Amino acid sequence: MTQLFEVATPDTALLRGVTESAHSPLRAQNNVVRLQGISRRFGHTQALRDVSLTLQKGEILGLIGRSGAGKSTLIRCLNGLEQPDSGVIEIEGRNITGLSEKQLQAVRSRVGMVFQHFNLLSAKTVAQNVALPLKIAGMDKAQRQQRVAELLELVGLADKAQHYPAALSGGQKQRVGIARALAASPALLLCDEATSALDPETTRSILALLKSLNQKLGITILLITHEMEVIKSVAHRVAVIDGGEIIEHGPVWQVFADPQSAVTRTLLRGLLPQLPDNLAARLSQQKQGEVIYCVHAAGDDAQGDLLTRFAAALPGKFRLLQGGVEHIQHYAVVRFFIALPASNIADEQQILSWLHTQQAQVERVGYVASHD
Ligand code: ADP
Repeated sequence: MTQLFEVATPDTALLRGVTESAHSPLRAQNNVVRLQGISRRFGHTQALRDVSLTLQKGEILGLIGRSGAGKSTLIRCLNGLEQPDSGVIEIEGRNITGLSEKQLQAVRSRVGMVFQHFNLLSAKTVAQNVALPLKIAGMDKAQRQQRVAELLELVGLADKAQHYPAALSGGQKQRVGIARALAASPALLLCDEATSALDPETTRSILALLKSLNQKLGITILLITHEMEVIKSVAHRVAVIDGGEIIEHGPVWQVFADPQSAVTRTLLRGLLPQLPDNLAARLSQQKQGEVIYCVHAAGDDAQGDLLTRFAAALPGKFRLLQGGVEHIQHYAVVRFFIALPASNIADEQQILSWLHTQQAQVERVGYVASHD
């Protein structure tokens, strides 16, 4: 996979696969966004600290972080609502820091925004809501009508043009929000918790829409979300922000397979197989009964068969407690927990060396009293 995204952080151990200079001419041409050393302080709060990242054309980047991490400030900097104290923000190669409000308006038309609560005007029809940015941009009525019809077709709402928002479901309202954000054919779509107000099924349909828009239009998307499922299903890359700094980033499958920071592990907790609660509660670091290991690996389909091969190679030597394999971005991500008698050192050694020959990572989680 080609390198699509680069982040500079002080902790280089957390950077993965950065193979190309951010300043090469080829990259510069493909960059829709380039942030270089962005910092922003509010009083004593450092909301953003030396953030550098690029989004290339056609990339879907997920940005995750705890509440207060700096996500909204970053978004506001990207659409020109906030000016950083230092650093450079380029949208399609144009530095937008220090622009006048009038100059910023032109930049904003290149950046579409999708909101959590849709932000539709209730007194206007679906068509009028979508037409609004075009009207503000001065497009004539006939062109507007044609463009609105195209956009509603694109988001699957051609039959709702004359409806009012109140008559729409949440998912339909968000489709209107997306059509409106796309009206001026922006280069970048900023989605701020775009599916957080929707039920799981509607979320899936909105994500499918975003994915197809990304493929059809080649639009670059920045997804800000606290829903890790969203990242897993549509993003190419993920960046983790904490305390205003990008602390970890990489292709989604890699970060999900082997999160490096404690913050990322906490954010991904609901998505990664965990030790069952009853066992976690009894876990001790004192050697006793059974030893528990967490095994994880990621890679091609062969790596996806790891658990099957493991069970076949060492039958009866361990108990599977939890976990398995899932596929993210065409990569197999394997994570499971096993237990084995702590007294049988020979078996334990055999298991560990077999797993190491398979490039699996193995972590001793602790001990529990014997299973009976
Ligand atoms: P997130 O979107 O990740 O929840 P924010 O970007 O909203 O985080 O906020 C980052 C930090 O900056 C927080 O500590 C927040 O309280 C602070 N902050 C953001 N905007 C302002 C502001 N206008 N005035 C003062 N503090 C702010």
